[in-house]
Amino acid sequence: MLRLVGTSDKGLYTSSSIASGCMLCYAGVKAVIFVTGVCDDSCYYCPVSRDRLGHDVFYVNEERVHTLEEVLTEVLRTGARGASITGGDPLIAYPRVTSLIRMLKDAMGPGFHIHLYTSGRYATIEALKGLDRAGLDEIRFHPTQEEFEDRIRDAVRHTSMDVGVEIPISPRLVEWAKRVIYKAWTSGAHFVNLNEMEFAEPNAPALLARGCRESRRRPFTVEGSYEAALEVLEWARENTGIPVHFCPASFKDSIQTRNRMRRAASLDRAWHEVETGDGTLRWYEADCPGGPVKAPSPGYLEGCRRIRLVEAHPTRARTPRIQEQVIEVQAPL
Ligand code: SF4
Repeated sequence: MLRLVGTSDKGLYTSSSIASGCMLCYAGVKAVIFVTGVCDDSCYYCPVSRDRLGHDVFYVNEERVHTLEEVLTEVLRTGARGASITGGDPLIAYPRVTSLIRMLKDAMGPGFHIHLYTSGRYATIEALKGLDRAGLDEIRFHPTQEEFEDRIRDAVRHTSMDVGVEIPISPRLVEWAKRVIYKAWTSGAHFVNLNEMEFAEPNAPALLARGCRESRRRPFTVEGSYEAALEVLEWARENTGIPVHFCPASFKDSIQTRNRMRRAASLDRAWHEVETGDGTLRWYEADCPGGPVKAPSPGYLEGCRRIRLVEAHPTRARTPRIQEQVIEVQAPL
């Protein structure tokens, strides 16, 4: 019988140990590789930004990339020890995905853990075997249609990968979630993750049209999703033997993303940049007679006219700038 392990204030709930890919996400050492925004499903709750959804664009974390070499540069810059491949539906870009997995395994070694998300629409047995041969460690299904649920069993039977299910949860999806969890369990899957449903700019109109509201207590989530997750966790504990983990939206933002940013900030810091401890970098900048100059403190910029305090995310271009504030205006020398 499974146990409900944790109900911490960080909101990490699980009925057993969590998947390997999740452990690395938690530590902020997984690169998020968005291989394509193209998807042949149309989930009303899809949280993918409309700049990306439907477009064949390629990103690593927040960086737009165009080649596998650029992916590797970003993985090395941020010190990632694994990657999650997401989209859209990554299997629509199947050749790109298998080349990407092979390249990462060759360059980073077999211990570099890679997991991939898919609706299962294009997860034929041949495709699954190809992913396994390329070196994919873990596959997570979000079966958008009942017929795709059979792909879970195919992955278990025909590959050596860890097989999981990862689905959103809200009050409207409770019965669906129970059915999918039961199917995952009887198919031999290794784990299920429930994601608290996000209420974000891309999906807000569709959610409102279905009577969903943003939670006042838990900003940027659909009201009742948290309680729905607890109900489903309890049901799964009583009715199945599969590990089920709940990932609250706040956990994703405040722990996973921040840890990843902190790591990038500490590894990719220039001499003039100071870590804030919050996943951002801070420095001082001035327009001096010989051109713009950057420094870790205003003392270095004596004699410069307009000294600005700048704080930014540790992306390659140091954007977005979170603040840019003039702190001193001196008369020219
Ligand atoms: S399968 Fe995923 S990417 Fe595609 S529409 Fe649904 S939530 Fe969005």
